[in-house]
Amino acid sequence: MTESSQTALGGNRIESGLDVHALRARFPILAKRIRDNSFVYVDNAATTQKPQSVIDVLNEYYTDQNANIHRGIHYLSEQATEAYEEARCRVARFINAPSERQVIFVRGTTEGINLVAQTFGRQRIRSGDEILISTLEHHSNIVPWQLVAEAQGAVIKVIPIDDRGVLDLEAYRALLNERTRIVALSHVSNAIGTVVPIVEMCREAHQKGIPVVVDGAQSAPHMKVDMQALDCDFFVFSGHKIFGPTGIGVLYGKDEWLRDMPPYEGGGGMIQSVTFEKTRFLEFPGRFEAGTPHIAGSIGLAAALDFVEEIGIDKIAAYEEEILHYATEQFSSIDGLRILGTAPQKAAVLSFVLDEAHPHDISTFLDQDGIAIRAGHHCAQPLMKRLGVSGTARASFSIYNTREEVDKVADSLRKIVRFFKR
Ligand code: PMP
Repeated sequence: MTESSQTALGGNRIESGLDVHALRARFPILAKRIRDNSFVYVDNAATTQKPQSVIDVLNEYYTDQNANIHRGIHYLSEQATEAYEEARCRVARFINAPSERQVIFVRGTTEGINLVAQTFGRQRIRSGDEILISTLEHHSNIVPWQLVAEAQGAVIKVIPIDDRGVLDLEAYRALLNERTRIVALSHVSNAIGTVVPIVEMCREAHQKGIPVVVDGAQSAPHMKVDMQALDCDFFVFSGHKIFGPTGIGVLYGKDEWLRDMPPYEGGGGMIQSVTFEKTRFLEFPGRFEAGTPHIAGSIGLAAALDFVEEIGIDKIAAYEEEILHYATEQFSSIDGLRILGTAPQKAAVLSFVLDEAHPHDISTFLDQDGIAIRAGHHCAQPLMKRLGVSGTARASFSIYNTREEVDKVADSLRKIVRFFKR
């Protein structure tokens, strides 16, 4: 720990007990040098880096096990099928789903939400109905609902936020009415880090018989997500944001809804029988997994969840809180830097603007020092509009980020401020 971090955090620092340096050694990419600098990766809300254990299982799968699943009656096909179905069970345990059948493999959060919107949404929503989302949403939890709303003649309603980025729960209660057919909410904002009180919001929607879809892209990697405790109706997350491969994600749904939902895509792997006149579909989850799935991806995701559980999600959450707290203090001391998103409940996302420099300039300058952050609207243009900016620079942290790295980012930002003030 640097001297400044000891002073800054004082006695309030949370002791997560994580050996970050040992942990970093498990991520080969972190040893990379970028533009002659050590690599500082703080773009974790976009995607996380992968531990060796995940890289190894992907390698092993293609080296030693590759075959298509479900169809072939041969040794490797049986093994691949078993591994794919075991991965489903692994995910179910991780999210505490009542049954692994409620775990549907999809490409990612985007596909999961589109699947729910185009099946459950279309089935449920009629002309004049309302779909309730929040100001915090990623485009993935706006556009799919707009498509359904347009097709069905429904209306999108939006829960406002205050200037800190906290959802207005009074407004939420007032917006829930007899026309509301679905509530779709981000659990954690990717752009400003706000953690949304999902349990409470689900309870209130359920009191009015309204189902809730949760975009868990930014919560699953950072906090315990227990389907039975959250009691949401659908939950979606992406493998690549939780140390797993790209192209694999999870849709969880309550049995009572999945049972009656029509298929999303048609094709092989989702049917019981086909004639030119009539096709009978499988039950879920198979019904929603048309075509050859991302077999290696599911196995890689299972390895990623093993990694998370080995570290412990509570330890991860505590460490990230510690890093966020430290980074917030360090960044706040920079002349002309303004943090956007100051909710009391926040994930390790630090969005900011500088008086002098455009977010894209900030990221270009930081890149020269080997630092990867994100700049722009973060696929949350309506939120940017509400905050009165066109975009922000965003540093998002994970368990392998150190205080030394935060110091490096802060030093680079100070350099930028000096450069633009010249
Ligand atoms: N929702 C949120 C809150 C996100 O952060 C993201 C990814 N930035 C998505 C949805 C979309 O995830 P994916 O691109 O993996 O489908």
